[in-house]
Amino acid sequence: TLITNHLPTAELQALDAAHHLHPFTNGAELETKGARVITRAKGVTLTDSDGNNYLDAMAGLWCVNIGYGRDEPAEAAARQMRELPFYNTFFQTTHVPAIALAARLAELAPGDLNHVFFAGSGSEANDTNIRMVRTYWAQKGQPEKNIIISRKNAYHGSSMGSGSLGGMTFMHEQGGLPIPNIHHIDQPHWWSEGGDTSPEDFGLERARQLEQAIEDLGADRVAAFIAEPIQGAGGVVVPPATYWPEIQRICDEHGILLIADEVICGFGRTGSWFGSTTLDIRPHIMTVAKGLSSGYAPIGGSIVCDEVAEVINNCEFAHGYTYSGHPMACAVALENLRILDEEGIVDRVAQHSGPYLQQKWHGLVEHPLVGEAPIVGMMGSIALTPDAATRAKFAGNEGDVGLICREHCFQNGLVMRHVGDRMIISPPLVITDAEIDTLVERAWTALDLTH
Ligand code: PLP
Repeated sequence: TLITNHLPTAELQALDAAHHLHPFTNGAELETKGARVITRAKGVTLTDSDGNNYLDAMAGLWCVNIGYGRDEPAEAAARQMRELPFYNTFFQTTHVPAIALAARLAELAPGDLNHVFFAGSGSEANDTNIRMVRTYWAQKGQPEKNIIISRKNAYHGSSMGSGSLGGMTFMHEQGGLPIPNIHHIDQPHWWSEGGDTSPEDFGLERARQLEQAIEDLGADRVAAFIAEPIQGAGGVVVPPATYWPEIQRICDEHGILLIADEVICGFGRTGSWFGSTTLDIRPHIMTVAKGLSSGYAPIGGSIVCDEVAEVINNCEFAHGYTYSGHPMACAVALENLRILDEEGIVDRVAQHSGPYLQQKWHGLVEHPLVGEAPIVGMMGSIALTPDAATRAKFAGNEGDVGLICREHCFQNGLVMRHVGDRMIISPPLVITDAEIDTLVERAWTALDLTH
């Protein structure tokens, strides 16, 4: 059979269930329910194989910052594939797309983050970071300084290394994770874990867990701390204002490298080019992916400060991927960055569309099912609760209510994700005011139906 968009949905679903193994999906459910088949997309709107339209409030998987269906990245990809479809950047070779993208990222990144090590994804980039910080300290004569501190409920990728940095217990339970010398501390999630403590005190308390861990493990053993400026897949956890300044102080005072995972927060999501800028964080390394190409091509990377790059460049860094700096992916990312910049998309999130969405989103706390509705730039969440005053959890399994709400969203033409009993949004940054109105109206309807 020639498999195209023209096959009936049931047939596509049957072939999918028979042959396609999906990430983070219960395969048995696919056989009974069938996956939704997305056939095309434009702007913020997805279309499925039955012709239904959905407003994609997730930008795919926090990726499609410039929106779907732009011709320019497709043209950039085609141009590059005709000229030089592939060459590697190993063994003393390079090519123009990798040079140009690295130089552009150095311009955009804050401080002296002037050097880029490319990867094919965020997971690969975080694996690079593990090896890079350990190599850095080994080169400086401190090979024992190799422990990386991360946070519970964090998501940093799915490979054995990045999954170890992540603090998702259900992934660790598969076995083999975490790899040695990774240590997890608690996340700064005041609403769900803060109890009677004020958000400010709670932020300090959670940050000081880092200091405690460094003291317990020994500063001569701790290489780095990694965190997202705002935890995304963990449920859009916006830390109390006291958290990051204290983390920064602790890293500075104890000589610990700070890695900001900007895979979600980067490229306009928080209202500036990087979450680190929005939250005034000064990392030594930033992990990037997703919005780097708006998902039009698979690419990630580590943006590294002068001092770390200098030390790494003094040895042969035994690490790399065939697709590090893939020419087509670099060309697409460059075009994406040009669009974000020249069309003023990042500035618009800071000055207009972000505040507009935030004001509408905060309005959802009026719904009886909503406990809090934090949002920064264009990444937001709502906590579903039977009683906002006591921040109570629903009876039954965590996530049951979130799943029901997600299905009601789908029925109402809205894609929102759920993380446990939190609903999440991260729409394309080009979303219009009218589309923001529709997003929030549909979210409200889905909440009514869930109630
Ligand atoms: N880091 C963060 C913060 C992420 O959200 C993700 C993916 O969701 C990753 C890393 C892993 O990126 P990838 O899926 O491209 O490997």
